[in-house]
Amino acid sequence: SQSEIGLIGLGTMGAMLALNIAEKGFAISVWNRTTEVTHRFAAEAGELAAQITPTETLQALVASIRSPRAIILMVPAGQAVDDQIAALRPLLDPEDLIIDAGNANFRDTNRRAAAANGYRFLGIGVSGGEEGARHGPAIMGGGDAQDWDRVAPVLNAIAAKYEGHPCAGRMGEAGAGHFVKTVHNGIEYADMQMIAEVYGVMRDGMGMQAPAIAAVLDDWNKGPLQSYLIEISAAVAGVIDERARKPILDVILDRAGQKGTGRWTVIEAQHLAAPIPVIDAAVTARNTSARLEERRAGQAVFGPAPELLPTDALTLRDLEQAMIAGKILCYAQGFALISAASSDFGWLLPLPDIARVWRAGCIIRSSMLNDMATALTEDAGRNLMLAPFFADHLKACHGALRKVVAAGATHGLPLPALASGLAWFDMMRTERSTANMIQGQRDFFGAHGFQRLDGGENHHGPWAMRG
Ligand code: NDP
Repeated sequence: SQSEIGLIGLGTMGAMLALNIAEKGFAISVWNRTTEVTHRFAAEAGELAAQITPTETLQALVASIRSPRAIILMVPAGQAVDDQIAALRPLLDPEDLIIDAGNANFRDTNRRAAAANGYRFLGIGVSGGEEGARHGPAIMGGGDAQDWDRVAPVLNAIAAKYEGHPCAGRMGEAGAGHFVKTVHNGIEYADMQMIAEVYGVMRDGMGMQAPAIAAVLDDWNKGPLQSYLIEISAAVAGVIDERARKPILDVILDRAGQKGTGRWTVIEAQHLAAPIPVIDAAVTARNTSARLEERRAGQAVFGPAPELLPTDALTLRDLEQAMIAGKILCYAQGFALISAASSDFGWLLPLPDIARVWRAGCIIRSSMLNDMATALTEDAGRNLMLAPFFADHLKACHGALRKVVAAGATHGLPLPALASGLAWFDMMRTERSTANMIQGQRDFFGAHGFQRLDGGENHHGPWAMRG
């Protein structure tokens, strides 16, 4: 009998997705560029092997799948995807469906969807890492509704569940799913950076050791900040390295890696003129961390920045509240970016559904996302920071954010993400901004004109001193 679905690319993610699909009762055919990987995979599949058909050629793969076929690609984003599509294309029928499940740039997915000819195409973002792929990822899909509906039974079955609801959904046409996945990753960068910043305040400002910091994060994980990233940060802080006999955090080099999705988020936000300063600061912080030699040189010239805070400067409660405020501001920016993309690309992205899909399975899963889904439903079209539930939280917490950022500034503790969140918050509640000066400058040097408060468009100042 033929398989329900096929999968190409038995790397970290593909292998786990294939096992997940088999475990949910779907017969699956698999193919991998290196054939011995396919054999090893099938040999190690244990009792799930009965559901799995390993194949050695693309022809055999295609022949083993029930028509109309659905084939998942789980290969590195970029050229490998185009190459695989080109190799598959001559073997497929017009109703066969290729599903790119890698971390594609949504612009590539738009291009591939538009170029799909003689087959159908879906782009899906899959979040949750290896563990998620195996036991339940969050899945953000893009493409035609009829194509999504065809594979939805498989995708819903393998997705993470939040109170029984699958964390999988079609976000819109073509690249919409990969776009939402990209923003997810941008938010992930920001959540991680804010945690790293408060860790820095505890380590360098409060002189706390990693195990004590682990206990604080564990405690926060029982409150409003409950989230996977706080949970794993507590776990990371709590581990003692056997070789060095000290906390593993104290032996990990402080140079952060990245694969580019955070950067894509920032680039797209700039294209859309959507402000996402917290995510921007997080990406910038990773880039800055990578410049270790320059940081060393900086410390040699200027001396080390962080100094211990006076004991009464900040409480752990201040830090927790600052994180709550920072997190709300970050997500408000992220959802506003999605909203901007939705109008600009004509996608009608379902904001509450996005928050729902993110509630489980993905890296940024947290209890707050459930409240965000509610707020985005009840206050559709309004910035999340203005939705009453989150506005109340912000009213209660922004004082702590200010206190933490001020202490950081005074004592040389760099808090780029939290500080940008605060600056954005202050800008967003200032009716009379300082852009009147910008407009004056623009008119002075470029005769760009300005609107007057007392009425009228396109005025010019009497810049007699110009030229
Ligand atoms: P791996 O490097 O573990 O696996 C890559 C797979 O793609 C291998 O099966 C490899 O085959 C195959 N492959 C590589 N190049 C080509 C090519 N040119 N043509 C055909 N097959 C090729 O990658 P991951 O599983 O980690 O990632 C796959 C995708 O999933 C990426 O887009 C990644 O960004 C995304 N992703 C990864 C996550 C993670 O946590 N790792 C999380 C979410 C998404 P071979 O055995 O022959 O080398």
